[in-house]
Amino acid sequence: MQQVTILGSTGSIGISTLDVLQRHPEKYNVYALAANKSVDTLFEQCLQFQPTIAVMLCPDSACQLESKLREAGSPVQVQSGIQALEIISGTEQTDIVVAAIVGAAGLLPTLAAAKAGKRILLANKEALVMSGALLMREVQANNAVLLPVDSEHNAIWQCLPVGETQQYQFEHQGIRRIILTASGGPFRDWALADLESVTPEQAVAHPNWSMGQKISVDSATMMNKGLEVIEAHWLFGMPSAKIEVVLHRQSIIHSMVDYMDGSVLAQMGNPDMRTPITNTLAWPQRIDSGVEPLDLVKAGRLDFAAAEFERFPCLALAYQALNTGGTSTAILNAANEVAVEAFLNRQIKFTDIARIIAEVLENVSITPADSLEQILAADKMARAVAQQQMRVVCSH
Ligand code: NAD
Ligand code: MG
Repeated sequence: MQQVTILGSTGSIGISTLDVLQRHPEKYNVYALAANKSVDTLFEQCLQFQPTIAVMLCPDSACQLESKLREAGSPVQVQSGIQALEIISGTEQTDIVVAAIVGAAGLLPTLAAAKAGKRILLANKEALVMSGALLMREVQANNAVLLPVDSEHNAIWQCLPVGETQQYQFEHQGIRRIILTASGGPFRDWALADLESVTPEQAVAHPNWSMGQKISVDSATMMNKGLEVIEAHWLFGMPSAKIEVVLHRQSIIHSMVDYMDGSVLAQMGNPDMRTPITNTLAWPQRIDSGVEPLDLVKAGRLDFAAAEFERFPCLALAYQALNTGGTSTAILNAANEVAVEAFLNRQIKFTDIARIIAEVLENVSITPADSLEQILAADKMARAVAQQQMRVVCSH
């Protein structure tokens, strides 16, 4: 029986993970569930899955959860705070850690899982974007197994010759490039001039995937694809020049690997995150995920188009940050988190997101990203400068 910790269990990935786990009760047991402050959802999950521990980042929420559980006669232990998240990720009692917290908040518990040599199912791409070198180093040093849940990276991983991300030696394996597919989000066909007036409701309505709010906005700006380029760089040891992005509106091909002999391997399937979750959970086995079989006749056609930087300036900013290196990707990520939240709160326009990130990248000094201290300092500074830039934008 494999013991599973789910960081971010109340979110879109967390809920899909629990859906897969309940299909295989003989294989997996939920050891711990963790969320920020969604008390009601975590309460229901505790009753259904009976973990040993439930953690809420927010102490007030943890108190509410605890009293609800006691009232219901449930023995689930409740804890709160970031240290508790690190403990449930690194404890001997768990085998698999599903890293599905959104944003920079996922970094420390993911690092704790790496240091403890766990099998990590990584959805929290921001952790790799912030600290790719550091996280990969910890994974290697502690024999952790880092498996990509992000659908594109999971597709690439399935199309690569070796089963573990950290073992690739591209020159020897005849790989020419990685091709990440992108749906293009809800505004792929809009006139550029109309993007100024996009509302949060329009931005979170993704045409193909149902996801959390932040990643939905990231998909609309294509910062999500930019973060994924950086994620692919670290996961697969690929230089940015060999990572390409192509628009593919149906989201049936989840990504591709192009080999020197002209073979292009693609992984296909319905756009449903239970496929990559199940794939990483059961690897090297294949088990049922609950995903509908792909009906290619119904899909009818697969279209491809170039991803233009003019329409998607955030994608260009991500390549720029990756090429600059050091803390610039942590700065990019922090600025993006601040800008996306401000957009969701109607403080800035959709098109201000890229403007603010560009300003922050210009104005925060970049250092090497060898230590956690350097990365967290860059993250903090970038958030402060992003707040300043927002005041500039809002006063116009
Ligand atoms: P979501 O917003 O639906 O859920 C986020 C989860 O994280 C919730 O459980 C929330 O309580 C928890 N959380 C948020 N802040 C926290 C904090 N400070 N401390 C502890 N817990 C916190 O997000 P999601 O769509 O499930 O995405 C999660 C991660 O997976 C993101 O990094 C996203 O980029 C990545 N991802 C998601 C999808 C998808 O289809 N949803 C696909 C690929 C990658
Ligand atoms: Mg993705």
